[in-house]
Amino acid sequence: MSMSRLSKRLKRRKGFGFLITVLFVLLLPVILPIALIQDRLRTRRIAKVVCGFICVSCGATLGMEAVRLGDERWRAIIADLHSRFPDTRFRIFRDIHAICPKCELEYMYQDVDCSLVVRPQRECA
Ligand SMILES: [Zn+2]
Repeated sequence: MSMSRLSKRLKRRKGFGFLITVLFVLLLPVILPIALIQDRLRTRRIAKVVCGFICVSCGATLGMEAVRLGDERWRAIIADLHSRFPDTRFRIFRDIHAICPKCELEYMYQDVDCSLVVRPQRECA
């Protein structure tokens, strides 16, 4: 009697997990494009903020070149991390979005107020 009740409860719990999985798979075609669009919008927003920004260090006007340099440096950092710790999965917070082509000062985009700030320097071991 109690065994059958237990197995019934287990079955119900399994059913719940199944339901969540099905829901997730059903919603994926909705979630994925939204995430992609949001990402693209953010990239565009960052480019808009960077273009025309005056470098606080050398006074140069930043443009798409600064965004490209930022992307490049960020990709290099990620590649370096993966080569040094191949089996580790990271949750990384991106903190480089643009680099001044003239003086190489690194900038980070802030979502809070859609602004560019000088990237906080980290001590690398
Ligand atoms: Zn500069």
